[in-house]
Amino acid sequence: MQIAKDTVVQFHYVLKTEDGTEVEKSAGGDPVSYLHGHGNILPGLEAQLSGASEGDCLSVELSAENAYGRRQENAVQRVPIKHLQHTGKLRVGTIATVQTDNGARQVTVVKVGKFNADVDSNHPLAGHNLCFDIEITAVRQATAEELAHGHAHGPGGHHH
Ligand code: ZN
Repeated sequence: MQIAKDTVVQFHYVLKTEDGTEVEKSAGGDPVSYLHGHGNILPGLEAQLSGASEGDCLSVELSAENAYGRRQENAVQRVPIKHLQHTGKLRVGTIATVQTDNGARQVTVVKVGKFNADVDSNHPLAGHNLCFDIEITAVRQATAEELAHGHAHGPGGHHH
């Protein structure tokens, strides 16, 4: 079966930045599962998976503009440490969550003071060209329930 709108796709991936640094991979865990054609993954990645089939391996390169965007230079802000949610010790490079008027937002800590921290609200992968090595492990028709919800269910998808 080919990947088309309203199919549920399972795949394993390795994500690297342009210099070959491995950022994430799914090997060792469940494959990722998503509902194709509903904007649940990066649009540039979704477009390039269209038409691929179970068992296919492909390498998808995305420019920063088609991935997480360019870095915004004015995105560093000073915030009270008590407003940051994080696990472990707060240090430079820690990814923390801040509640904003527009909901939860992930930030990267760039400086830690006594009461305040400077955080960069750029997505950690902003400004990077990305390369996904993908292996399609399954393609199936979505169920009526998945289409109604707009996402995939089961391993690697949503659990309710
Ligand atoms: Zn659901």
